[in-house]
Amino acid sequence: MFYQNYDGVHGEDRWGMVGKIGDPFQEDRLLALACAKCHCQPLVIAERNWVTTNNDGSQRYQIRVACTHCGFADEFAVNAKKEGVITTLKHGHQSVTPADLLAE
Ligand SMILES: [Zn+2]
Repeated sequence: MFYQNYDGVHGEDRWGMVGKIGDPFQEDRLLALACAKCHCQPLVIAERNWVTTNNDGSQRYQIRVACTHCGFADEFAVNAKKEGVITTLKHGHQSVTPADLLAE
Protein backbone atom coordinates (compact mmCIF):
# COMPACT_ATOMS: atom_id res chain seq x y z
CA MET A 1 0.00 0.00 0.00
CA PHE A 2 1.11 3.35 -1.07
CA TYR A 3 0.73 5.06 2.22
CA GLN A 4 3.70 3.11 3.46
CA ASN A 5 5.97 5.05 1.14
CA TYR A 6 5.01 8.35 2.67
CA ASP A 7 7.66 8.46 5.36
CA GLY A 8 10.37 8.48 2.71
CA VAL A 9 9.01 11.57 0.99
CA HIS A 10 10.56 14.95 1.72
CA GLY A 11 10.28 18.52 0.55
CA GLU A 12 7.42 20.03 -1.39
CA ASP A 13 5.91 16.73 -2.31
CA ARG A 14 5.49 15.91 1.32
CA TRP A 15 3.28 18.95 1.83
CA GLY A 16 1.52 18.48 -1.45
CA MET A 17 0.49 15.06 -0.25
CA VAL A 18 -1.17 16.25 2.93
CA GLY A 19 -4.75 15.10 2.95
CA LYS A 20 -5.79 12.23 0.78
CA ILE A 21 -2.64 10.23 1.25
CA GLY A 22 -0.85 11.52 4.29
CA ASP A 23 -0.57 14.20 6.93
CA PRO A 24 2.50 15.61 8.67
CA PHE A 25 1.65 14.28 12.12
CA GLN A 26 4.16 11.48 12.18
CA GLU A 27 5.44 9.60 15.21
CA ASP A 28 8.27 11.25 17.18
CA ARG A 29 7.50 14.74 15.81
CA LEU A 30 7.21 17.50 18.42
CA LEU A 31 4.28 19.88 18.72
CA ALA A 32 4.64 23.38 20.18
CA LEU A 33 1.56 22.96 22.34
CA ALA A 34 1.29 23.18 26.09
CA CYS A 35 0.49 20.15 28.21
CA ALA A 36 -3.00 20.23 29.75
CA LYS A 37 -1.55 19.17 33.08
CA CYS A 38 1.80 20.93 33.64
CA HIS A 39 1.48 23.60 30.89
CA CYS A 40 4.96 22.87 29.53
CA GLN A 41 5.87 22.45 25.86
CA PRO A 42 6.39 20.52 23.71
CA LEU A 43 4.24 17.47 23.26
CA VAL A 44 5.63 14.49 21.37
CA ILE A 45 3.60 12.36 18.97
CA ALA A 46 3.73 8.95 20.58
CA GLU A 47 1.45 7.00 18.29
CA ARG A 48 -0.71 7.34 15.22
CA ASN A 49 -3.49 4.87 14.76
CA TRP A 50 -5.56 4.44 11.66
CA VAL A 51 -9.25 4.70 12.53
CA THR A 52 -11.30 4.53 9.36
CA THR A 53 -11.77 5.61 5.75
CA ASN A 54 -14.07 8.62 5.48
CA ASN A 55 -16.82 8.99 2.89
CA ASP A 56 -14.54 11.32 0.86
CA GLY A 57 -11.84 8.65 0.72
CA SER A 58 -9.49 10.34 3.20
CA GLN A 59 -8.05 8.36 6.06
CA ARG A 60 -8.89 9.21 9.63
CA TYR A 61 -6.10 8.85 12.20
CA GLN A 62 -6.05 9.11 15.95
CA ILE A 63 -2.85 10.88 17.02
CA ARG A 64 -1.73 10.12 20.57
CA VAL A 65 0.62 12.66 22.13
CA ALA A 66 2.50 12.79 25.41
CA CYS A 67 4.00 15.66 27.40
CA THR A 68 7.81 15.59 27.24
CA HIS A 69 7.96 16.86 30.83
CA CYS A 70 5.36 14.98 32.87
CA GLY A 71 4.24 12.30 30.43
CA PHE A 72 0.58 13.30 30.47
CA ALA A 73 -1.18 11.72 27.49
CA ASP A 74 -3.58 13.53 25.18
CA GLU A 75 -4.95 12.88 21.73
CA PHE A 76 -6.55 14.42 18.65
CA ALA A 77 -7.77 13.23 15.28
CA VAL A 78 -6.80 14.18 11.74
CA ASN A 79 -9.19 13.96 8.81
CA ALA A 80 -12.02 13.74 11.31
CA LYS A 81 -15.02 12.76 9.16
CA LYS A 82 -13.54 14.60 6.18
CA GLU A 83 -10.19 15.52 4.73
CA GLY A 84 -8.31 18.34 6.42
CA VAL A 85 -10.39 18.50 9.61
CA ILE A 86 -8.24 18.33 12.74
CA THR A 87 -9.94 18.04 16.12
CA THR A 88 -8.87 19.88 19.24
CA LEU A 89 -6.85 18.10 21.91
CA LYS A 90 -9.18 15.91 23.94
CA HIS A 91 -7.92 17.14 27.31
CA GLY A 92 -6.09 20.35 26.40
CA HIS A 93 -8.96 21.65 24.21
CA GLN A 94 -6.43 23.43 21.98
CA SER A 95 -6.62 23.41 18.22
CA VAL A 96 -3.78 21.67 16.42
CA THR A 97 -2.38 22.71 13.05
CA PRO A 98 0.63 21.56 11.01
CA ALA A 99 2.22 24.93 11.93
CA ASP A 100 2.51 23.67 15.51
CA LEU A 101 5.02 21.02 14.45
CA LEU A 102 8.60 21.86 15.39
CA ALA A 103 11.27 21.46 12.73
CA GLU A 104 12.88 18.03 12.75
ZN1 LIG B 1 3.04 17.91 31.25
